[in-house]
Amino acid sequence: MAHGAKRSGQEVKGELSGQCLCGAVRYTLREGFRLKPYACHCGNCQSRTGSAFSEHMLFAISDMNISGELDAGEYDMPSGGHSTIYGCAKCKARIYAVNANREGMASLRCGTLDNSTDLDIQHHIWVASKQPWIGLHEGAKTMEQQPRSHQEWVEFVGIA
Ligand SMILES: [Zn+2]
Ligand SMILES: [Zn+2]
Repeated sequence: MAHGAKRSGQEVKGELSGQCLCGAVRYTLREGFRLKPYACHCGNCQSRTGSAFSEHMLFAISDMNISGELDAGEYDMPSGGHSTIYGCAKCKARIYAVNANREGMASLRCGTLDNSTDLDIQHHIWVASKQPWIGLHEGAKTMEQQPRSHQEWVEFVGIA
C-alpha cells in the first residue's frame, strides 16, 4: 500500500504516449492540465467496453496530438449529455471520449497508454454498480455515483 501511495500520480506526469491495438493510431499528450486516472464502474462503461469497468483520465483536448484514421461512436447519456468516443477505424480500439457538457476536456482510455501497466488507480466512481468480485485496495477513494461539476471532479480525483 505504501508503494502505491508513493507512486500515485507520478505515472501520468510529463509527456505521455499511446496507441490503439493495431498501431495505426498513435498519440502523444504533451504536459498540461490533467486529472489523476480513475476507474468507472458504471453500467454504461461495462456495456461500452464489454468489461467490468473502464480506466479514464481527464485531460485538456488541446494537449493531444493524434495520427491515424479515427472513427467515432455516439451516445446520448441519460444525464442529458452527449458522448462521442473516438478510436481506431481499423481495429476499433477506443482511445478517448468527449462530452458535450465538458468543453475543452476529454477522457482518455488509459489502457491505451504505452505505460499502462504502471498505472496505479486510487479513485473509483460508480461503485454502486461495481461488480462484486472486484476488491478495492485499502485506502481507495470511492464515490457511489460520480462528481457532478468540473469543480467536484478536481476535488474528488485531484490534479495529476
Ligand atoms: Zn488500430
Ligand atoms: Zn462509466
